[in-house]
Amino acid sequence: SGQIRPLVAGNWKMNGMKASAAEFGKIMAGAGDLWPKTDLMICPPATLAVTFAAVAVGSKVEIGGQDCHAKPSGAHTGDISAEMLADAGCKAVIVGHSERRADHKESNADVKAKAEAAWRAGLTAIVCVGEQRAERESGKTLDVVGGQLAGSLPDGATVANLVVAYEPVWAIGTGLTPTPADVAEVHAFIRKTLVGRFGAAGAGVRILYGGSVKPSNAKELLTITDVNGALVGGASLKATDFLGIAEVY
Ligand code: PEP
Repeated sequence: SGQIRPLVAGNWKMNGMKASAAEFGKIMAGAGDLWPKTDLMICPPATLAVTFAAVAVGSKVEIGGQDCHAKPSGAHTGDISAEMLADAGCKAVIVGHSERRADHKESNADVKAKAEAAWRAGLTAIVCVGEQRAERESGKTLDVVGGQLAGSLPDGATVANLVVAYEPVWAIGTGLTPTPADVAEVHAFIRKTLVGRFGAAGAGVRILYGGSVKPSNAKELLTITDVNGALVGGASLKATDFLGIAEVY
């Protein structure tokens, strides 16, 4: 990972109530010790993003959204734009999470449009890619990830505006993880792809691993070459677990 500063981002998914501010407070309290070595981010549900962003001002935790619409505003009931997330104090937004690709049938083209929306609003796009179990078992992982990168990443990536998260679908929320060798292979492939497409910027874009990261496996998974941090689901809901993961750097 060289001089790239790692990012450990927590995806709370559809979890969290007002009372979760206490757990978020513990994350903020622990973040100062980890910074400037490691950047920390929490992506809470939109209902909490505004208040979390407000209390996080001056802390070392940034707030991100979990999804955005491609358009800045309009007749799209239930959707939230990247501009709204930025207005709420978010600095980033996850796009193309496998749960969005599955639950909401989001295509690579949809994800690309959302990443472009993120950039339009001044947010970092955290673009998720990853193979399904059957794809890995049939040896198609790099083809699938390559296709997702080609289709989901807009032109114009910079070190600041793009983060790529490699999240094997079969590893999300299952307790299963790829071997370190398999993680290394995919991250090296993503790095090569980013450099080929974006040149020097591609060499500095952070590539996160996601899928059942917890404190006990964080060291093994997150210190692999070209793994520049983690996208953490379940374990990000508990401050001690989330901070325990970030402490490996
Ligand atoms: C995720 O959904 O981004 C994720 C990595 O989930 P978990 O850590 O719970 O596997």
